[in-house]
Amino acid sequence: MNREEILLRNYQKVIASLHLSAKFSGRNPEDITLMAVTKYAPDEDVLFFLQQGLIKHIGESRVQQAELRWNNPLFAKYNTVKHFIGHLQKNKAAKAAKLFDFIDSLDHIHTAQALEEHVPPGKILRVLVQVKLTNRDTQSGLTLEDARQLVQALKTFEHLKVCGYMGIAPQGASEPELRAIFSGLKKVFEEDFPPSAERYLSLGMSEDFKIAVEEGSNLPRIGSLLFAKNLEEV
Ligand SMILES: *Cc1c(COP(=O)(O)O)cnc(C)c1O
Repeated sequence: MNREEILLRNYQKVIASLHLSAKFSGRNPEDITLMAVTKYAPDEDVLFFLQQGLIKHIGESRVQQAELRWNNPLFAKYNTVKHFIGHLQKNKAAKAAKLFDFIDSLDHIHTAQALEEHVPPGKILRVLVQVKLTNRDTQSGLTLEDARQLVQALKTFEHLKVCGYMGIAPQGASEPELRAIFSGLKKVFEEDFPPSAERYLSLGMSEDFKIAVEEGSNLPRIGSLLFAKNLEEV
């Protein structure tokens, strides 16, 4: 198999799993948006998926690196929805507000204010609030209570539109633990964002996206499975 065949196979496997998990949760697979996390992917691989029209939502976690790539005309000509999923430093807010369509990792009102100041005229920047899904200090994000407060505060912002929650599952959690964590956030998400709204619950990465989608995620973030180097990895 050549590289392109491997990439296509990776993609098909991910999509097949997404469909099964959507069905399991009684949802239409079309209601699930796949985010391709391109932060570690080589340019050629990302371009291949873009050329094939297979990926639209992309996730990057470093502002500078994302700028270099997505301002390059080779990439910029594709119609993508760009999500920032890393930790956003306040001093990068101006660049991020310009480049990205979504900031999925918002965890501070000051960052929100910095973004608000720099959103280009006519643009609405969508944001998700990052919830910390573990007690470990190493993870960024807010406690559920603080996250909900930030959501309420964001509703008054003119150039930001708050659309949901994002979370990263704790490493090493068992399947029942993951299900409990994901479904707990789903419940709060349902309370804070009505079904009629444009809303996203972004849970699940390569390791745990099936469980996350089964528990209600509609924006899984997948990197290593899509861009896996060889078949054994998938
Ligand atoms: C890197 C990253 C991902 C993708 O992780 P994979 O395990 O490679 O699928 C998803 N979400 C966030 C926040 C990330 O930083």
